[in-house]
Amino acid sequence: MQPSDATVRRDTNFGRNQSWETRIYEPANEHEVLAILDMHSKKTIRAFGSKHSWSDIVGAEISLDMTRFASVEPFVRGGKKFVRVGAGCTLRKILRELHAKTDQTLPTLGAVDVQTISGAISTGTHGSGRPSLSSYVTRVKVAAYDEAGNAVIYDYAAGQELEAARCGLGCLGIIIEVELSTTPKYMIAETVRLRTSLEDALSVYPDYPLTQLLWSRHNWKWLAFQRKPIGPRTLGVMERLKTRFLRVFSFINVDVMFHVGVTGSRSAGAWAVRGFQWLMPSLVPKGVERIDDSERILAFHHDLFRHEEMEIFVEEAKLAETTELLRAITDVFAGNVDELSPSIRQIFDELGCYGELLANRGRYVLHYPFIVRRVPPDDSLISMTASKTEASFSISAFTYDPPARRKPFYDFCSFVARALVLQVEARFHWGKHFPLNYEQISELYPKFERFREIALRSDPHGVFRNGYTARVLNLPPRGATTSSG
Ligand SMILES: Cc1cc2nc3c(=O)[nH]c(=O)nc-3n(C[C@H](O)[C@H](O)[C@H](O)COP(=O)(O)OP(=O)(O)OC[C@H]3O[C@@H](n4cnc5c(N)ncnc54)[C@H](O)[C@@H]3O)c2cc1C
Repeated sequence: MQPSDATVRRDTNFGRNQSWETRIYEPANEHEVLAILDMHSKKTIRAFGSKHSWSDIVGAEISLDMTRFASVEPFVRGGKKFVRVGAGCTLRKILRELHAKTDQTLPTLGAVDVQTISGAISTGTHGSGRPSLSSYVTRVKVAAYDEAGNAVIYDYAAGQELEAARCGLGCLGIIIEVELSTTPKYMIAETVRLRTSLEDALSVYPDYPLTQLLWSRHNWKWLAFQRKPIGPRTLGVMERLKTRFLRVFSFINVDVMFHVGVTGSRSAGAWAVRGFQWLMPSLVPKGVERIDDSERILAFHHDLFRHEEMEIFVEEAKLAETTELLRAITDVFAGNVDELSPSIRQIFDELGCYGELLANRGRYVLHYPFIVRRVPPDDSLISMTASKTEASFSISAFTYDPPARRKPFYDFCSFVARALVLQVEARFHWGKHFPLNYEQISELYPKFERFREIALRSDPHGVFRNGYTARVLNLPPRGATTSSG
């Protein structure tokens, strides 16, 4: 590997909200990765996956495109089933090969399957009803540095190093290979129903553990995509026809038409957004049971329309209070209310931000419903659900504004994040819009300092760091100083 093997270009992420100048290598094996690390040990280095993160987590002077690490090897150990996957393999390819070679599938999946395995686990990617993908990782092979600064391979298969590598934010080195447990292939039965309140929406989880909720803006209705896993079954002719029809219908209705409505109403102005969001819950067909392969229901074409997202995580016990505060903030930003209830106002007063909230009145009308998912704890050091004893709920806020016009959305997110960290100890998805810094978040994660120690040990000279790690982990890149001096 020579510097001349690299391409120099300005790279950008899916959301088009991040771009960075970088020198990109495409190594073919771990020896080439080690050679690149040795050659550029005085620069900053990161690998990228599908660049589907919105936060500034990916950029570095030297980038490794791990596309050529694409192997998928299912295997059995001690009677349990696993898959060993090359770092650059996408979730879609893993699913395709697992399904072709075995009766197994991935234990969980988010809204899309285009992420790479390394990118997905590095930020704690999750779906609804099951722990994050990181939780199922049993071994991670990483190229990093030893104390003397030489590039070496580490194999993390147990202990806190594995827990750190399960959701490592790219700080532990370049992932070469990931091993994770698999689960028998399953189908999902999904029925959409309108629920009368948050309490009513939450009551479906015992029977429909994979449920995802849609909380509509402006009329604050709860729509439950009630989902339960069912064993694989052979569908009759009519059932197969129904499945195919509902696949096509869901693609046209949800993936395309709904998003055309969102982007169209956004362009038309606040009145159109209010109207469309008001109507939306009644436009979704309800009460029809859809049965399909799990990956067909869990992942959809959410990446057809470019957008950006911030995702909030709170413990189940704090969800009701969180939704009340979020509703108040959203209504004030949208200019929908003149006054808040005394109890809500008192909370913002005590947080010292009531004046700031009122100053933002009418500044931003959120044009997409909130999506709410249930995420049980996982065994990593710093994922959004790490060190929890009960399930968290995540609440996602989206914008489809073009990147240059997202400032009001960012201001909305910043206010929400600062208020919710203080009031309900909310955490935020590492790979999505992340408006907070180290001082604001470090105490939210009991094993945060342990994670930093492990990251410092496998990267003593700060090579695998960037502005993002400096800001959120207080791990500045080489040559820079920490926020404490
Ligand atoms: C349309 C869309 C839908 C999404 N849906 C969900 C969802 O349902 N649930 C959810 O939790 N998230 C979701 N996300 C967020 C996404 O899953 C995460 O941001 C994920 O990290 C992106 O994976 P990636 O392969 O694109 O990695 P990238 O964004 O390219 O990289 C993410 C991090 O991983 C590191 N990394 C990548 N490869 C390696 C490697 N080989 N070695 C070391 N570090 C590496 C990068 O350096 C970076 O720090 C969504 C994003 C989009 C755009």
